This record gives sequence, C-alpha cells and structure tokens, in this order.
Amino acid sequence: MDYVYGPGRNHLFVPGPVNIPEQVIRAMSRNNEDYRSPAIPAMTKTLLEDVKKIFKTTSGTPFLIPTTGRCSDISSLQIGTGAWESALTNTLSPGDRIVSFLIGQFSLLWIDQQKRLNFNVDVVESDWGQGANLDILASKIAADSSHTIKAICIVHNETATGVTNNLATVRKILDHYQHPALFLVDGVSSICALDFRMDEWGIDVALTGSQKALSLPTGMGIVCAGPKALEATKTAKSVRVFFDWNDYLKFYKLGTYWPYTPSIQLLYGLRAALDLIFEEGLDNVIARHGRLAKATRQLAFSIVIVYPSLRFILFAWKPRLAVEAWGLKNCTQKEEWFSDTVTAVVVPSHIDSSEIVRRAWKRYNLSLGLGLNKVAGKVFRIGHLGHLNELQLLGCLAGVEMVLNDVGYPAKLGSGVAAASAYLQNSTPLIPSRI
Ligand code: PLP
Repeated sequence: MDYVYGPGRNHLFVPGPVNIPEQVIRAMSRNNEDYRSPAIPAMTKTLLEDVKKIFKTTSGTPFLIPTTGRCSDISSLQIGTGAWESALTNTLSPGDRIVSFLIGQFSLLWIDQQKRLNFNVDVVESDWGQGANLDILASKIAADSSHTIKAICIVHNETATGVTNNLATVRKILDHYQHPALFLVDGVSSICALDFRMDEWGIDVALTGSQKALSLPTGMGIVCAGPKALEATKTAKSVRVFFDWNDYLKFYKLGTYWPYTPSIQLLYGLRAALDLIFEEGLDNVIARHGRLAKATRQLAFSIVIVYPSLRFILFAWKPRLAVEAWGLKNCTQKEEWFSDTVTAVVVPSHIDSSEIVRRAWKRYNLSLGLGLNKVAGKVFRIGHLGHLNELQLLGCLAGVEMVLNDVGYPAKLGSGVAAASAYLQNSTPLIPSRI
C-alpha cells in the first residue's frame, strides 16, 4: 500500500532511486541468513567477480559497502558520504591537492566533502549546464611539473543538470603530461547505463550506488579500486575506520569476505540485478539508455507549439529535440555533454518547475526530478535510467505534456510523444532474449 495512495503504478522518473525489477524484489524477499555460513562467502565471491564487469575492469578490486553515495538532506550540505568518502580517504592524505570540477549539485556536494576532509581542493567551476572545463585541467596539469596535484575528482554524469563528462579526455591529458595524479570518478548516475571503461580510461577509483542504474534499493555503495589506488592506501594518512579497504582486504584473503554484517537481502538483490543486466547484455543495456535518452530529446519534423504570450501557432519544420517539441530548452548546453540517463528541462521564467513536479505526482502519479540548488524552480528532470522500457517512457512524456498545460504552458498535447514514438518505432530492436 502506498503511504499516500495513488491508483495504478507510480511512474518513477526521478534520476534515482529508480524502478526495481520484479525479479529483484522477489529475490530479496527472503529471510536473514548466517553470513558466516559457506553460502554467503561463496555468493560474495561471484558477486565481486561479476561486479567488475559493470565497471569494465579486470584489474580492479571491488568493495560492496553498506552505504549510499551520500546520506543526508540534499539542501543542507551537511553531508556524510559513503562511497565518495571511501574513495577519498583510502587514497589521499589531508592537505593533498585535488583538482575537482564544480558543474552542478552533486559535484558541489562532493567538493564540500573534499574540503571538510581537509584536502586542498582546487575547484574548476563551470556554468550549471556545462561540462567540466578540461582545457583548464590541461593547463593545470601542464604547469604542475613537480606533481603537487595528487588526484583529479570528477563526476562522470552530473545528475542535477544532465551533463556527461568526457573521461577519456581526462586520461589523455594525464598521459600526455605523464602526470601520476589519481583519477577518481563518481559514476553514480552513469555506471550500468552509460559507456564506462575503468581499465581503458585508466580510472583509479570508480564508484556507484545501488539505487541508480543497477535498479536495486538504496543501501549499497559499490566502489572499485584499481592497482594504483590500492597501492596509494599504503601511504594515505586520512582517518578511516568504517570505510577502510584494508579491513575488507583482510577478510577477502580469509575467504570470508565480510568485516561486518552485510545485508543478505541486498546481496541476493544484487545477484538478481546483475543476472538481469547480463541476460540483456551490458552493451544492450547501454544502448537502451541511449535510445530512451534520444527519444526524450528526439527529433520531431513537424511540431506545433502554441506560445503563451504570442498566442500563435508555429510550425517547426527542422529537426528538434523532444523537449524542444514543447518549445523548451535542455539545461545541457552542448550536445557533446548530453546525458543518456537524465534530461534537465528548463522552463520559462514565469513558471515554477517545482509546481510541475508537485502536480505531476498529485494528478498523474508521475514522479519527476526537482531542480536542485542553483536551478531550483528553473528546471525539472526526467530520469531515464535503470529498469525501464520504451512504452514506460512514452507514458512519462505524455504526463509531462499534460502537466505543462496544467501549469499554464500550452505545449501541444502529443507533440513530444509523437516525436519520441516516431524515433522509438524506428530504433527499438527486438528484445535480445526473445529473438
Ligand atoms: N553522485 C551523483 C552523480 C548523484 O546523482 C547522487 C545522487 O543522486 C549522488 C552522488 C549521491 O548519492 P546518494 O543520494 O546515494 O547519497
């Protein structure tokens, strides 16, 4: 029973937490077990091996940490971070210089944590809606011949603005200058949904959270450390207890795996989630995310928009983004940064985007993402990640069209849906397991 009942299914289109597949829910519906019995270590061993596949690493060492990326109110900035903190404290010492990119709410929160952990944070700031400024990174790395920069911290996909950063370029810059800085990546809203290649891009620590593209309940941080990061733990002086990788490694060696009690249910859930991803094929999963994202932004050849002030009908004949089919703009400023897991839609200044989110939930049982911090009231977000298919997305887009009209923005009903479904009808392949 919903805490506040709504008929039918809730259309969950926030960019995490996302829909949990029935198979995962069923797999988790079980009793507690003795985690010291032979069964749980045996399952953990296969989980650790399999989880490496979602990072595309063979040399990394994963840690399944009972936490999330961040665990407090997003507006307060009083944040205790799990996976982030684990990545930083295991590899760095207080005072270490870090280059970190501020491009939206989640990079802001990570930077806040970095500062509070007493690192010397060199912040590279861009407008919200832009990607990380990698030209500035290149000039900082070029100027740093004495290697004072110990780490580069970057959020692969900034969930607040729908911006994806180019990680391959970061690696190229470091390699070009033969710079040894660690490369730490927040892949919370990218891993398992976007192209992510830990080994190929030389990422030293990558992390995600269970409630994003893995489509599990909240509660498990998944951190993967490359060999250089593991080596760095030997000299890293940051205080760490709960997140200390050495405690895990000790139990890995013993073959019992757990320094403390794991959530048995989440482990079975993770097993089922990984099985589903491998059944579909990770590359197919990534392609599906690309398709759903394009459909959200997709091109409409003939769109009717009724402008509120001018009250005339405009026929647009050239290809447009789906959100543009409604006469609205994507918060992401350039195509190279478009995110395949979240689209942040900018609304006209006379409309409060929070009202769109409120009404969508109250009237249509549709959950959209709020605009956060700097873009609060200015954008709403459509999350298209995790366990989701084409027709579910069309339901969301139809709901958005209706709610836009509800708040006084006369988007032509059906225009975004038509654009998206035309694209999807041409691009959706047969379901791999049903061919
Ligand atoms: N990093 C990114 C990119 C996120 O999108 C989020 C949450 O949305 C976080 C970190 C924080 O994760 P959590 O809310 O699990 O603490």
